[in-house]
Amino acid sequence: QIFVYASAPESRAIVDIAPSYGLFVDGEFREAADGKVFKTVSPSTEEVLSEVAQAGTADVEDAVRAARAAFTGWSALPGAERAKYIFRIARILQERARELAVLETLDNGKPIRETRDADLPLVAAHFFYYAGWADKLEHAGFGPAPRPLGVAGQVIPWNFPLLMLAWKIAPALATGNTVVLKPAETTPLSALFFADVCRQAGLPRGVVNILTGDGATGAELVAHPGIDKVAFTGSTAVGKEIARTVAGTRKKVTLELGGKGANIVFDDAPIDQAVEGIVNGIYFNQGQVCCAGSRLLVQESVQDELLDALKRRLSTLRVGDPMDKNTDVGAINSAEQLARITALADSGEAEGAERWSAPCRLPENGYWFAPTLFTGVSQAHRIAREEIFGPVLSVLTFRTPDEAVAKANNTPYGLSAGIWTEKGSRILAMAGRLRAGVVWANTFNKFDPTSPFGGYQESGYGREGGRHGLEAYLDV
Ligand code: NAD
Repeated sequence: QIFVYASAPESRAIVDIAPSYGLFVDGEFREAADGKVFKTVSPSTEEVLSEVAQAGTADVEDAVRAARAAFTGWSALPGAERAKYIFRIARILQERARELAVLETLDNGKPIRETRDADLPLVAAHFFYYAGWADKLEHAGFGPAPRPLGVAGQVIPWNFPLLMLAWKIAPALATGNTVVLKPAETTPLSALFFADVCRQAGLPRGVVNILTGDGATGAELVAHPGIDKVAFTGSTAVGKEIARTVAGTRKKVTLELGGKGANIVFDDAPIDQAVEGIVNGIYFNQGQVCCAGSRLLVQESVQDELLDALKRRLSTLRVGDPMDKNTDVGAINSAEQLARITALADSGEAEGAERWSAPCRLPENGYWFAPTLFTGVSQAHRIAREEIFGPVLSVLTFRTPDEAVAKANNTPYGLSAGIWTEKGSRILAMAGRLRAGVVWANTFNKFDPTSPFGGYQESGYGREGGRHGLEAYLDV
């Protein structure tokens, strides 16, 4: 049985959302040059949260100019001085974590428990981690004088708005680059609050600029000749378009795109532990995770036992008001995303797979999709091949480790995989054969700023996080 929780209005008092927000250019908030705005709504209620400036050509021009002007001073600062600013940003993020967690939950729809316990701690951790690198670049194996690239144009998605910002901005600042970042159009608010954090930290003007807007704003930003480095996270289709845009220019580019991760469960895995890992893999953040474990590959002999346990567990998930501390599954980020998920799930049924949805009563307003799984899935089905980016699991079976590897690798993507087994030797033997940027063993969706993250094949190229994440922002 699943409960729908009443809203918790007292939590709203934690964050003060203004009726309108401007762009953050050259250290100041201002309207778009042509006065255009767009609305951002709460996906769990469809309530309008705020009106936000929509950056156009003149704003992109101004922001890039501000970042170029700031680059001279910022890149010339000793690393230890840059580190002080970044540490200060990290500390302010910790101090304002409750406010930011509530804001992110309202704008994105994800449960407050996730923003509070996963997003915000990781955001601060990334700034602390990269602050520590700023004065050590000469000693990191990059050679005697690694140089920043210049101005980074960064475009991020809506699934982890503030965390994706941290992955992009922290290493860029540590290495002496300046930044123009465009958040996704459905989740602009936390990036604007981050701009306020930069102001509070006394960051020199122009070092970080935030342009809110849509895909057209993003396209203008990455095409601007004043951008030296492009960093993008989002769909594979847009990633390819960006690669075409920067081809033939001097710009460096890193792309973090989609995925179709396989979570592989062997018959010797502790079932309860595997079930938690599967739930974490595909129902965390409503499955809107590029490295989600969206395909379950289960060894045939334990299929029935595992699926029974999984369905029992899914029946206890609490779906509903993301502001409630007890909620496990929140709202889908937008009506468009809900339509995509619905269409792909319907294709699963049309192609003959068997659909099972967790028994839950979904709220009337907002964008909701019940945790769902499909059995009887074949490799040819769209739900086995395409990224659904929602709380939908496709279950396939295997008999031998070789078959598991072959099926896991049968995808144009290559971002993530998970292995569940008691045998350490099997983990080691399989991990190297799985074509995935990250392979988790007996866990899933575990992140750490010290580890590089990124994809093979159509999941993109370049790495973010760890020492490797610095390379993307340096000329060595
Ligand atoms: P998207 O790629 O359209 O948007 C991501 C970001 O790129 C947004 O900020 C958007 O405004 C911007 N953008 C859009 N068109 C652009 C262009 N031509 N040039 C530059 N920037 C542009 O992703 P979406 O519409 O939010 O989601 C679509 C699909 O992408 C999802 O269903 C999912 O499959 C995938 N996705 C992946 C990730 C990930 O982390 N890998 C994140 C979000 C979405």
